[in-house]
This record gives sequence, C-alpha cells and structure tokens, in this order.
Amino acid sequence: MSESSEGVLYVVATPIGNLDDLSARAARVLGEVDLIAAEDTRHSARLLRHLGLEVPMMSLHDHNERGRVEQLCQALEEGRRVALVSDAGTPLISDPGFILVRALRERGFKVVPLPGACALITALSAAGLPTDRFTFEGFLAHKGGPRQARLVALRDDSATHVLYESPHRIQALLGDIRDVLGGRRVVLARELTKTFETFLDGTAAELLVRMEEDSDQTRGEFVVMIEGAPAREGDEAASVEGDALLQVLFEEGVGVKQMAAIATRLVGGRKKSWYAKAQAIKDAVD
Ligand code: SAM
Repeated sequence: MSESSEGVLYVVATPIGNLDDLSARAARVLGEVDLIAAEDTRHSARLLRHLGLEVPMMSLHDHNERGRVEQLCQALEEGRRVALVSDAGTPLISDPGFILVRALRERGFKVVPLPGACALITALSAAGLPTDRFTFEGFLAHKGGPRQARLVALRDDSATHVLYESPHRIQALLGDIRDVLGGRRVVLARELTKTFETFLDGTAAELLVRMEEDSDQTRGEFVVMIEGAPAREGDEAASVEGDALLQVLFEEGVGVKQMAAIATRLVGGRKKSWYAKAQAIKDAVD
C-alpha cells in the first residue's frame, strides 16, 4: 500500500557506506514517489540503480536550495510525492534540506521522516562514551582560530561532544583538541559501516601519534567524539533537582542569598555556585 496519496515530502535517510543499511520502507518509498530531490543526482543515481529503480530526480544542494523551494511547494500543491535524499545518511544533518523542510512546514505541507543511517548516532552507539547528554557540533570552522574558540566554548561542558571532520583537517582538529582540551579521551570512528571501519580511542596526542605511525588512519570519513568535562565540585548547581528547587524558591519570593543557603543545605555543594545560579534566575526575569 502506498504511504500517501496527497502531496508530501519524505525525508529519506540513505546508507553511510553499507547499502544494506537502507530500510525496506525507504526502498519502497523511493520507488513510489514522483520525484526525488537529491544533493547530487549522479551519486543518488547509483543507489537507485542498486535498487533497480528509475525515478525522475532534481538536484537540491546548498547553492540552489532556496530557489527550489517554490518549485517543490508547487509540486506538493499538485499532490505530488517527493523524496529528499542527501549523498549519505540523514538529510539536514550537516546536509541540505533545512530551508526546504522549514518552508514546507510553515506552509502546512506534510513532511514525513524515514529514519535510517546517521553517522553521529552510529558512532555514538559503539564508542563507549556517555550518551545521556551530548552536543553535536557538525563541522567546526576550517580556520584554526575560530575552531579553537569553539573548543574553548565547549571546555566546561560535561556532555560528550560529537563532531564531523574531513580527512584533510582531521590532524589539525586533533592538534587543537590536544592544545585546548588536553588529556581528554577522544574516540575516532572512521569509515563506519564500510570495509575498513575502525574505532581509535585515546587522548588527542596519542591519536596523532597513531596517525603518524600509520597513514591509513588519516584516510576516509571521521566522526570525532570527545569526552565531556569532568564533574567538578560545584556542578551540583547544574543538577535538574537543584534548578527546580531554586525555581520554586524564587517563585515563592525567597531572596537570592537565602535561595543559595537553602539549596546548599538541602542538596550540598558550594554556596557560591548556588548563589550564581540563583542570581541568574533572578536576572532572567528582571
Ligand atoms: N547526513 C550525514 C549523516 O547523517 O551523518 C552527514 C553528512 S556530512 C556532509 C559528511 C560527514 O559525516 C563526513 O565528513 C563524516 O564526518 C561523517 N560521516 C559520514 N559517513 C561516515 C562514515 N561512514 N564514517 C564516519 N563518518 C562518516
């Protein structure tokens, strides 16, 4: 049975290396749609050939996405079904599609996600780093200065940080991680789902040595995962319970100094940290 007879955009995740990772639903939908908007039509044509499908395609990439919006709105208006695919993985994740999806949603069109491969989730699922909280930074800036500035901004965050990087800049990025974040644990997931899939684990300095010893380790596609900042005394003030407690005290009209004193007695930790947090809550409404 077809997914829908009204105009709809399917956002279809495609494999990041192993073609068997395309879901059965994705294969079916790609065969049913009237049009496929692809980041690179020649690249996606290979996937369609593998599936034995012939479907009209149009390009939709960073340089023409805005211009495509009206065309695709028109197609959906006419009741056509369109699939959006990128070269690999989930569209919109460090890939084109955001401008289109936002425009379609704003105009009330139906947008249906078809889940599948995504390099950052695939990498996190097997890295052995905490996954309860993580930040996804995509690609950091190409230039050293802004790249280091972003790493400095992440320095005190205890979440795991996930980055994408190309083989051209992987060593420069590891150098910056070593310089800014020191001995943090870093896991490199290389060539996920492909023949030479490798996970390397160590400090950034150790990983750089491994790459110098074995240049194969510098090739291919990378997800870089960095352990978050270690918990420090005073981090209690960042706890969910602590935030809720301060919020209730504030709403009950308790002053900042007393809020800090009560939180310190009930939750523990440093009064100074609680005070800063309480002041921030007050400042937000002042
Ligand atoms: N949309 C994709 C996704 O869902 O992951 C990401 C596209 S982004 C342009 C490409 C980057 O994703 C690569 O430079 C690399 O950092 C990461 N990536 C994609 N495929 C990968 C793979 N098989 N192994 C490791 N990293 C991969």
